[in-house]
Amino acid sequence: ALCLENVSHNFGTLAAVNNVNLAIDAGEFVCLLGPSGCGKTTILRLAAGLEPLQAGKITMGKTVVANDKADLPPEKRSVGLVFQDYALFPHLDVSKNIEFGLKHLSAQERKARVLETLEQVGMVDYLHSYPHTLSGGQQQRVALARAIAPRPKLVLLDEPFSGLDVRLRNQVREETLRVLKENNIATLMVTHDPEEAMFMGDRVAIMNKGQIVQFAPPNELYSDPENAFVAHFFGEVN
Ligand code: ATP
Repeated sequence: ALCLENVSHNFGTLAAVNNVNLAIDAGEFVCLLGPSGCGKTTILRLAAGLEPLQAGKITMGKTVVANDKADLPPEKRSVGLVFQDYALFPHLDVSKNIEFGLKHLSAQERKARVLETLEQVGMVDYLHSYPHTLSGGQQQRVALARAIAPRPKLVLLDEPFSGLDVRLRNQVREETLRVLKENNIATLMVTHDPEEAMFMGDRVAIMNKGQIVQFAPPNELYSDPENAFVAHFFGEVN
């Protein structure tokens, strides 16, 4: 669903992302885990098209979305985003927020799609509510609905649960996983929380200093860490 090949990104003299290779299967939930500043968000922004690609190649499905010749903008990539940059529009109600990404559909299809998607995240009663009247968890559900409404094959999530309190966080994590799996959408989610990655990821890519150190299912990272960094970082879960 998403393939990064030899992707590197510098900010001035800083190598924020250093020759990263990462391939995510259709319908797979992958967590990108690592300490602050290791380059996680930069990878997500490159995949989304929010940061111009400097080196390497990014493919979504069979489409090359960025290489040395072309770099498609976010709206031309078949990808749903739940990013801080892509927060809900405060001046549009829930329905209009979701319709925004559905301009290619007829008015009737749009309405049906909005209802169907809100049903999936349990927010159909809030069709005409404005974002500021919703709780953090409810806004998160609407943001997910907006991301999946155009039926992308891939969704990118940047620390989507960090603003939620602990009790709500577990619930929204489970709902998010369920909705993405039901729709067979591949996901790349950035997190710095090993426990969250362990709980949610089919596979987890562990990053350190701009590089992916190990990419494996959680139990393998735990039982067979590649090096001391992975062992220490992932060992924190216990
Ligand atoms: P965090 O978990 O704290 O968000 P991260 O792993 O997502 O960290 P990035 O945000 O990708 O890390 O940043 C990687 C490195 O690149 C950091 O050292 C950061 O300071 C630097 N960086 C990120 N964006 C910019 C920018 N626009 N200009 C200059 N440096 C940047």
